[in-house]
Amino acid sequence: MKALIDLHNHTVASGHAYSTMEELISRAVKKGIKVLGISDHAPALPGSANIFHFGNLFVVPREIDGIILLKGVEANIMDFEGNIDIPIRVSKRLDYVIASLHPPCIDPGTKEENTNAILQVMKGPHVKIIGHPDDSRYPMDYDAIVQASKLYNVALEINNTSLRPDSYRQGVLKNAKTILNLCKKYEVKVIFGSDSHVSYDIGNFSNCIRIAEEVNFPKKLIINYSKDAVNELLEEEIF
Ligand SMILES: [Zn+2]
Ligand SMILES: [Zn+2]
Repeated sequence: MKALIDLHNHTVASGHAYSTMEELISRAVKKGIKVLGISDHAPALPGSANIFHFGNLFVVPREIDGIILLKGVEANIMDFEGNIDIPIRVSKRLDYVIASLHPPCIDPGTKEENTNAILQVMKGPHVKIIGHPDDSRYPMDYDAIVQASKLYNVALEINNTSLRPDSYRQGVLKNAKTILNLCKKYEVKVIFGSDSHVSYDIGNFSNCIRIAEEVNFPKKLIINYSKDAVNELLEEEIF
């Protein structure tokens, strides 16, 4: 089965990524990706784009070379009340928001504080994905966030880049498996994200697939493989 969608990709606009939007699109065409989401880092992360970058994404066509292009952002969770660095007036013009915990935008809190931040973010508008909730530097109550993921229709991401052996995130293998096992238990869908910072990584879910197989995770709960699941997550007929 081939993945149809990758919603977590960065362009040069993120500051520490290396491909243009055009390069991402041509690589996505070669790889047979049907839906490509661009999710550059939001302004609070040093070196990333100005807020105007995200407000202007409407100039980019919806469909290019047979690829459906979704315009998103990877927002930074700024505090334990769940505020993010993309105002609603901007996020409402985008197709989706990924919300993630990134140093130096937020210092890790207690398990309770980090969990509360995620739960509050999920209740907010336009956030569709929690990016890499897999980092032991930000401990969280996975049982609570998996149940909230189902309740608020906000997918938890299994992040392929986090799972690289040279990743700077910590405890990822164990935490990602915990998330997958809980999602299996409660029948909650997850989304794979390549988190590509260079075009060659688009749609690369090799690490996600490996650990999903290790825990016998059901394919029907992986959003990337199902048109219906993609549309359901985004609450729109994307394709
Ligand atoms: Zn991130
Ligand atoms: Zn990212």
